Amino acid sequence: MRVHLLLLTCALLPFSLAGAQGRGEAFTHADSVRGSDTPERAWWDVTFYDLHVTVNPADSTISGWNGITYTVTGPVKEMQIDLQVPLEVDSMVQDARRVTYRRDGNAFYVTLAAPQPVGAAKTVTVYYHGRPRVAVRAPWDGGFVWARDSLGRTWIATACEGLGASVWWPNKDYLADEPDSQRIAITVPDPLQDVSNGRLRSTTHHRNHTTTFEWFVTEPINNYDVAVNAAVYAHFEEDYSGEAGKLTMNFWPLAYHLDTAKVQFRQAQTMMKCFEHWFGPYPWYADGYQLVETPHLGMEHQSAIAYGNHYDDGYYSAALGRGIDLSHSGQGANWDFIIVHESAHEWFGNSITMKDQADMWIHESFANYAENLYVECLRGKEAGAEYVLGTRANIQNDRPIIAPYGVNAEGSGDMYYKGGNLLHTIRQIVNDDEKWRGILRGLNHAFWHQTVTTGQIESYISAQAGIDLSKVFDQYLRTTEIPVFEYRLDDSTLAFRWTDVVPGFDMPVRVTVGDDTFGLVHPTTRWQVQKVHLSSPDAFRVDDNFYVLTARQPIRAVPRPPAGAAR
Ligand SMILES: [Zn+2]
Repeated sequence: MRVHLLLLTCALLPFSLAGAQGRGEAFTHADSVRGSDTPERAWWDVTFYDLHVTVNPADSTISGWNGITYTVTGPVKEMQIDLQVPLEVDSMVQDARRVTYRRDGNAFYVTLAAPQPVGAAKTVTVYYHGRPRVAVRAPWDGGFVWARDSLGRTWIATACEGLGASVWWPNKDYLADEPDSQRIAITVPDPLQDVSNGRLRSTTHHRNHTTTFEWFVTEPINNYDVAVNAAVYAHFEEDYSGEAGKLTMNFWPLAYHLDTAKVQFRQAQTMMKCFEHWFGPYPWYADGYQLVETPHLGMEHQSAIAYGNHYDDGYYSAALGRGIDLSHSGQGANWDFIIVHESAHEWFGNSITMKDQADMWIHESFANYAENLYVECLRGKEAGAEYVLGTRANIQNDRPIIAPYGVNAEGSGDMYYKGGNLLHTIRQIVNDDEKWRGILRGLNHAFWHQTVTTGQIESYISAQAGIDLSKVFDQYLRTTEIPVFEYRLDDSTLAFRWTDVVPGFDMPVRVTVGDDTFGLVHPTTRWQVQKVHLSSPDAFRVDDNFYVLTARQPIRAVPRPPAGAAR
């Protein structure tokens, strides 16, 4: 059961992606081209994507163009534009002239004839067509999803995190460079309705029984969040009064799910209230919030969250059924996992975005942690803690959470449950809930609409906490070892130290210093002693809100601490 749960865990991709992906295999030239700031990418900064795509479900093909507007930031070289096999480029045009290019797998290298002075704004338009990769198991193993609703009508979606947006449209497929805004104009056969990101600006019917839906995102967007969702949808809208004013919430269930959706999607407002409290204002008031029913489980598509949880609380698994409690604690079964987890990514993932796939914990650890905050919003702090502690059963400690850089590699699926437990542990170390909430809100303020490195996030948390947590992050994000609190109890003397830890690890931890009294101790890798007042050695406990192991040593196994070491 647990193994299956892990394979199916979460709405993202713990087990996906072609290639080496940090499993000890060698990375390829193609991995570096896909995952690093290559010289052919580094000299230009994307400012606008003008994407126009016609989707043809009859033969599973697409065709269209993307106008890529950029600012020149350095000396011109060839320009790398990504578009994955088997899609084909028809032509590329700049200043009304065709430009030449060569192809290397999924990357095109363009030779630009026009002058590219530093600071200039230029546009290159890429015309393309083909039969895009069909998703093997969306959302984990992505591409295009060609499905049918239960009435046999066409239902289309895209999902491409990790794999990359270039699986269906040409762009700079590099997370660190987001456009400042984007048009997404999708043409589909009647009577389908396309729901993409941002706001619908226009709807144009054509004589050939197709319709173009022009969507516009006015804020920076991760390229993998750009999505096609096309079906026979119903629509309803609600206003939400939030921290930054009036927010429009738009809901797009399949037409025959309208009544069900009107009940289940009420949780979106509860979610919004909880996350604005903990994380600060929803990041996309200008573009609004949408929830769109999809044939796959779900994805954090910015301002257009993909929803496929079958209108049930808990977590839906095609293999295991509906309403699963991923925490095994009873605290995860009565709220809608996909509404909560995917929407949490609007703050952590979409507003604050990793520059490199290796740092995906910035998205997933915080989104996982948000689940436990949501339980706390619903049922209190103890219930939230039960949830996060319950998810420890899913942790594998198989590989580090942070993967190698520059090769589009993804770390262990532990970035979900272990990452959530790391943040829960740090909350204990901070030991001041309002301060902790201030740190979470502060992260969203400091890194609002930015791409970041893990170093920025780690430093910010340490600085705001006033505690150097660098070794704590090293331990949990960069090793698979869980700290062991090793101790010995000799009457009223507690001796303790950390083992299985990185050099310099000195995380404080809360332990029983009296029968019902917890106090913080500050172990290092050297033995220390402290007086405790316990009626029996069996009364000793380490606060299980800290994600650590404990090992009680027989008295003789522990060397006496050197004179003067006691504190
Ligand atoms: Zn996620």
